[in-house]
Amino acid sequence: MNNKVVLIGCGNVGMAYAYSLMNQRTPVTELALIDLNTERVSGEVLDLNHCNQFADSKMKVKVGSYEDCKDAKIVVISAGANQNVGETRMDLINKNSQVFKSIIDKVMENNFNGIIIVATNPLDVMTYITLKYSNLSPTKVIGTGTTLDTARLRYILSEKIGISTNNIEAYVIGEHGDSEFIPWSNASIALKNIKDFLNEAEMTQIEEEVRNSAYEIINKKGATAYGIGMCLTGITNAILEDKNIILTVSSYDEENEVCFGGPTVINKDGVKEKLFIPLNEEETKKLIVSIKTIKEAINSIE
Ligand code: NAD
Repeated sequence: MNNKVVLIGCGNVGMAYAYSLMNQRTPVTELALIDLNTERVSGEVLDLNHCNQFADSKMKVKVGSYEDCKDAKIVVISAGANQNVGETRMDLINKNSQVFKSIIDKVMENNFNGIIIVATNPLDVMTYITLKYSNLSPTKVIGTGTTLDTARLRYILSEKIGISTNNIEAYVIGEHGDSEFIPWSNASIALKNIKDFLNEAEMTQIEEEVRNSAYEIINKKGATAYGIGMCLTGITNAILEDKNIILTVSSYDEENEVCFGGPTVINKDGVKEKLFIPLNEEETKKLIVSIKTIKEAINSIE
């Protein structure tokens, strides 16, 4: 079976993804690495292949080229600038949209017909421009969206309440950025509303903590990597194993003509269905603001 993945951008995020694939029973059979820094890529390939004896995965890792896109099932893009201390994700917009134009052109010149997963920030903008530059079907362009933010939320709730992350039905939705929010009104554990477990002040504090997680990590260690690496692995496996699982990825919404994060069913075709959580009035306003933020950012691209 050919389950080839091409990874474009082998920095902190890209290599955390590659290493987490290596550590799981992923169906990926081959991983082709591409980066402008070719010397680093050849070093990363050697280092990863040396995991083989101890790895659950028998995935082959190699130095890739854009020709690898011809028969790849998935292309993952984590190339481009990351946030410096004090920068927001939106500050990266012009640098990374240029990087993306050159990358997507090369991917599509090689008749790629699989699924693209985008991790680069500003995430929802990069997902949207990937869709536009590639001309792929909207079901085949997926951004990591608020998967990482949702994972952070579930971790914090799990620690506080003492119930596994798997049994917490709570999501972060909207922009993967400062306008993201938690629709608490329908968050639940074992069909009980989250309000049975937390008071308003705790919810506000948790939402702040989730929103500021990336800033805190960047201040302390310069970049975030493991969390997003695992999210990318989760999305990859959901596609290759045709899982039909719900993840808060970013995908195209026809009504608003933009990509944003929300619960989405993922399977072998990519996006099977974008689901919408019932929102109260205040939450609806927050979603409108978040969508507007993404749209304005897209319109601002030079
Ligand atoms: P990094 O600087 O460590 O790595 C980026 C890599 O991209 C570098 O190795 C660079 O050589 C490569 N690159 C740049 N232009 C390229 C091109 N045209 N072709 C091929 N490779 C190219 O950055 P990082 O920390 O890995 O972050 C990557 C991106 O992921 C950033 O935009 C960051 O903000 C984003 N990110 C997203 C999430 C998320 O939740 N989606 C989480 C963390 C980071």
